[in-house]
Amino acid sequence: MSTETALMNTYGERTTTFERGEGAYLWDNRGNRYIDALSGIAVCGLGHAHPAITAAISEQAGTLVHTSNLFLTTPPIRLAEKLTALSGMSNVFFSNSGAEANEAAIKIARKYGHSKGITDPQIITMEGSFHGRTMATLTATGNPKVKTGFSPLVSGFLHAPFNDVEAVEKIGFSNSNVVAIMVEPVQGEGGIRIPDEGYLKALRALCDQNDWLLIVDEIQTGNGRTGTYFAYQAEGILPDVVTTAKGLGNGMPIGACLSHGKAAEVLQPGNHGSTFGGNPLCTAAALKVIDLIESEQLCQRAHSLGVDMLRTLKAELGQLDYVKDIRGCGLMMGIELTLSCADAVEIAKNNGVIVNVTAGNTIRLLPPLILSDEQANDIVNRVCETVRSLG
Ligand SMILES: *Cc1c(COP(=O)(O)O)cnc(C)c1O
Repeated sequence: MSTETALMNTYGERTTTFERGEGAYLWDNRGNRYIDALSGIAVCGLGHAHPAITAAISEQAGTLVHTSNLFLTTPPIRLAEKLTALSGMSNVFFSNSGAEANEAAIKIARKYGHSKGITDPQIITMEGSFHGRTMATLTATGNPKVKTGFSPLVSGFLHAPFNDVEAVEKIGFSNSNVVAIMVEPVQGEGGIRIPDEGYLKALRALCDQNDWLLIVDEIQTGNGRTGTYFAYQAEGILPDVVTTAKGLGNGMPIGACLSHGKAAEVLQPGNHGSTFGGNPLCTAAALKVIDLIESEQLCQRAHSLGVDMLRTLKAELGQLDYVKDIRGCGLMMGIELTLSCADAVEIAKNNGVIVNVTAGNTIRLLPPLILSDEQANDIVNRVCETVRSLG
């Protein structure tokens, strides 16, 4: 089963080679079909090989792929208009990944600090968070495993427990160099951790009181996944900076750092850049993604599908003594077990469903937003079968 390749071994052993996809399904090179409850980690929200997205990519590929950001092209301008209208932010910097979107946000926060005379700016991030794999974003990440072996780390990050407003307040009291809070509305890699209602609102208030920037990392939660276009919208707040990526391009590599108010004027000519970021090809794909999310009302759909799937998962699995918790927000769902679920991914695959395990013992479901009711039931059944067989 094991396959030796020339790829650097950063992902461990991989036993499946996929050959094609269509909607919620993937086929491997042996012709087996799987239903995809992971969407390439919250990326392919519109499913695989969506015809309208394929057409948008093909058309743009045949027109103009890249010019560099020394020149304007139309798709990134239109995408920026769309994203600012959807988010309530006022401008956008396009990157090629989530980590890069967060790098832009971190640079905004630091320069904002410097503009106020703070020469050693500190950003508060949360324990259990995930913000990326670049040096700054892995330092921001609240998970020691991501950092081991990579010191010296980047300075300027302080960590607070997640879902604990007082802890953040306390750090602020004892540190006058704080310039920003960076937080995920729901921790994805951290195990689908959902904070109490009002958490983001309270962080917003703290930022207002202290003149800190509120940076909301919507790289996994954004683009409809949790039931609103951005998850912070369910709390009725407006961040200063929003980052997103994963679901934005349905597989085309694109990230975005959106900013508003005092954060929007921080980066000036020469302060930041990217050769590929916001190229016409990726932005044309993202424009089509947003079109479809809107025209097919996929935010609402993610919400209602999530409610139904979570209810059934709880009813079917809630009594098992090794199931610790089942939680979800839209189509971000986690089944936390008290036993190790190292084999769960393989067992699920044998049951015809693609899932992932995160934070050691949480089975994570991030299915596409385009699921039919039948497909949603099919995923729930296969996942239940998988979890039962683990006991
Ligand atoms: C995936 C993720 C990132 C990193 O995105 P990449 O595209 O892998 O660099 C950052 N923050 C959150 C919340 C994520 O889920």
